[in-house]
Amino acid sequence: MPLDLILLGPPGAGKGTQAKILSQRLGIPHVASGDLFRDHLHRQTPLGQLARQYMDRGELVPDDVTIGMIRERLEQADCRNGVILDGFPRTPAQAQALDELLAGMGRSLAAVLYIRVRNELLLRRLAGRWTCRVCGAVYHIEFNPPRVPGRCDLDGGPLYQREDDTEEVQRRRIQVYQEQTAPLVSFYRERGLLVEIDGECSIPEVTEELIRAIEVRKAVDP
Ligand code: AMP
Repeated sequence: MPLDLILLGPPGAGKGTQAKILSQRLGIPHVASGDLFRDHLHRQTPLGQLARQYMDRGELVPDDVTIGMIRERLEQADCRNGVILDGFPRTPAQAQALDELLAGMGRSLAAVLYIRVRNELLLRRLAGRWTCRVCGAVYHIEFNPPRVPGRCDLDGGPLYQREDDTEEVQRRRIQVYQEQTAPLVSFYRERGLLVEIDGECSIPEVTEELIRAIEVRKAVDP
């Protein structure tokens, strides 16, 4: 059975960082809606131009556009053994659409891993975040600095700050999360899929907690 996982949590919880590590460890792709939008933006596609208007303000891109983009990605061959979803779903309508999409492929979610981090820490994390232009690896000036300032440890690529990592947009993104995405916590808890992870530990500690939780879920529902 494919291993379909969601990493849920506020912006700055460490979803992207953990998803990249888990993807390596589990051998399944990391599917991040934000990265897919940024890729469209970079390539200046019509979808990218549309998404930019929302991303620059910290708002959500409309559901139909987002769901269509994820559907296309999930249909690609490398997703056949499962995926680690990061940043999707972000609304109840997206969660519903994901269920239908997976059901259409004869699949269902294995677990929703909810990474909990207090609000006051989120802004500090987002403010110091730097991303590799080449591979998308994420660093933090204070919590996870690169070995050489301004350069990616993995490929030496230049690090940049995301345009939506200004303080005003960060605050809005956290607010949008509280309003539109946080309801998914109880949605998935009620369905017995939610596993809560303390996201305030070190990066390797959070990874180990995640791996443990996934092993437990796999044992319950192999
Ligand atoms: P992220 O990289 O996950 O922080 O996403 C960056 C931005 O992309 C968000 O602030 C939204 O504007 C947009 N975005 C990413 N994922 C979604 C989603 N599932 N639904 C709507 N908009 C999204």
